[in-house]
Amino acid sequence: MIPDDRLSAYIKSLDTGNTPILETIEKEAIEGDVPIIRKDMQTFLKTFLAVKQPKKILEIGTAIGFSAILMEEYNPCECHIDTIENYDKRIPIAKENFKRADKENTITLIEGDALEILPTLDGKYDMIFSDAAKGQYINYLPDIKRLLAQNGVLITDNILQDGDLLESRYAVIRRNRTIHKRMREYVYALTHDEDFRTTLIPVGDGITVSVLV
Ligand code: SAH
Ligand code: MG
Repeated sequence: MIPDDRLSAYIKSLDTGNTPILETIEKEAIEGDVPIIRKDMQTFLKTFLAVKQPKKILEIGTAIGFSAILMEEYNPCECHIDTIENYDKRIPIAKENFKRADKENTITLIEGDALEILPTLDGKYDMIFSDAAKGQYINYLPDIKRLLAQNGVLITDNILQDGDLLESRYAVIRRNRTIHKRMREYVYALTHDEDFRTTLIPVGDGITVSVLV
C-alpha cells in the first residue's frame, strides 16, 4: 500500500497532460512494463523545475528516457542532462526516444553501472535525480555530494517502497528486508548530514529532496 494513494489518484485526476511525444513514450513504457515516474511525481518535477531552473542535470536511471525528456521539456531554461543507464535492452530504446523527441544535443546517455560511472564524472550539477538501483543509493552519496553545485538539489525517487519503509523491519516480508534496511540507512544519512537540508515528501512512491547548503 502506498500511504496516500487517494492523494495520488486525486492529483492524477487533475492532470492536464504532457507534450505529445511524452504522452506517446509514457504509453509505450506502460505497455512494456517499464517503470517510469508516476503522474503525481511528474507534476511535482515540472513545478520544481520551474522554481529551480537547473542548467545542468544528472539523472541516475534512464530507463527508456521518459523522465529525462520530461525534465528537458519542462525546464524553463536551456539545460543539459546527463543520464546513466546500465540495462542493455533499454539503452537503444532510450537513444531512439531522445532522437524522436529531438533531444540528441541536450541529453547525453551514459552507458554503464552508476557505481562505476559516477566517480568518472566531474563538473557541477544543479540537480541530480536518483532513480536507479534502490539498494545502492547510499553508495552513490559521496560522488553525488562531490558532483552537486552549492545549493544544488538531489531528488531521490522510490523512498517509501510502497509503504514498506514505514513498517518495522519485522512487518516487512523477508525478501524485502535488505532493501528496507538500506533505504532506512539512506534516509537517515541524508537527514543527518549537515551539508544537506532534506525533506521527505509522500509524492509518487515517496521522494526525498535534499539541498546542498
Ligand atoms: N527515471 C526513469 C525510470 C528509471 S527506472 C523514468 O522515470 O522515466 C530505473 C532504471 O535504473 C532501470 O532502467 C534500471 O535498469 C536502471 N538501473 C538500475 N540499477 C542501475 C545501475 N546500477 N546503474 C545504472 N542504471 C541502473
Ligand atoms: Mg522511480
